[in-house]
Amino acid sequence: MTRHYNFCAGPAALPVAVLERARDELLDYRGRGLSVMEMSHRSAEFNEIAERAERDLRDLLAIPDNYRVLFLQGGATLQFAMLPYNLLGQGGTPNYIDTGIWSKKAIDEAKRLFSAHIAASSRDNGLSAVPRPEAIALSDDAAYLHYTGNETIGGLEFDYIPELPEDVPLVCDLSSSILSRPLDVSRFGVIYAGAQKNIGPAGLTVVILRDDLLERGRADMPSLFSYQAMSEAGSMVNTPPTYAWYLAGLVFQWLKNEVGGLAAMADINRRKAQKLYRAIDESQLYSNPIDPVNRSWMNVPFVLAEERLNAGFLEQAEQAGLLNLKGHRSVGGMRASLYNAVPEEGVEALIGFMREFERKNA
Ligand SMILES: *Cc1c(COP(=O)(O)O)cnc(C)c1O
Repeated sequence: MTRHYNFCAGPAALPVAVLERARDELLDYRGRGLSVMEMSHRSAEFNEIAERAERDLRDLLAIPDNYRVLFLQGGATLQFAMLPYNLLGQGGTPNYIDTGIWSKKAIDEAKRLFSAHIAASSRDNGLSAVPRPEAIALSDDAAYLHYTGNETIGGLEFDYIPELPEDVPLVCDLSSSILSRPLDVSRFGVIYAGAQKNIGPAGLTVVILRDDLLERGRADMPSLFSYQAMSEAGSMVNTPPTYAWYLAGLVFQWLKNEVGGLAAMADINRRKAQKLYRAIDESQLYSNPIDPVNRSWMNVPFVLAEERLNAGFLEQAEQAGLLNLKGHRSVGGMRASLYNAVPEEGVEALIGFMREFERKNA
């Protein structure tokens, strides 16, 4: 068996140790004689799996006691709609920072349902830097401020957490950067993330929210939309994505026990990103347009100086065991996603390949 290096933006690489453990437990979960996939979500066994996952996530991120953790479905995209339903029950205008494709999708969804005020935007710098803090202009009746911590497609990442008046909760889509480093959860009202980048397999979405915000929901929303209903039911208003929840739990254990926590993970991620950006900056063939302070650790887009080389680059990379380097269809070029489960050796292999490709095509 050969495992290649997978730079996919999502669904993305999972730690080999996690896949091996899942394989070992697949047919017979710890002597119970059945698979986690076949268990009742109401069983004692699954309850233990679910609670352990939450406990480990709380440990990793040092989530304060007045925050709830929800394990939901629908992806980050459903959060674009659930969020306004849950935070606009008392009126007010949702505020957004626009830094690219994902924040724009969140804004468009809010506008379909309600309205949205753009408090700051990166459109005037061509999405190459996030707005500086002093450029954020809230509306008078701001119900919350939403931003995208890491723009997965543009490769643009916030280098700071916005400061807000105390009565305006900060909301962040951290789908592609959660768990990549330590985070001060107490600065946020709501954090959400689709699992398929840095948490686990697709089909699960993690929401972390401050418990006083549970009271702000609109009365007219479907029960599956309601943070409050989900929170009261332990994320089991209906059948949750049990296997994805279990795998996420294994990833949390891997981060705690094998990596050594998020500070250790951050050291590795910083090194991985720095090495790749340095290789890009030193080359004549590759370039990345993002302001260095906002370059994403997790998603590194780059273009080749000559577009005619793209097809050959991708083909030869694949032959070298370097998968999924094609950029998003909306921007073209290449993108290497360096999530937690992509090992440092994978990044070194990519850099070696890029240098060799440049040399051969000079
Ligand atoms: C992938 C991604 C999404 C969309 O996630 P889905 O789970 O497909 O809905 C939203 N926001 C960001 C930042 C993402 O990276």
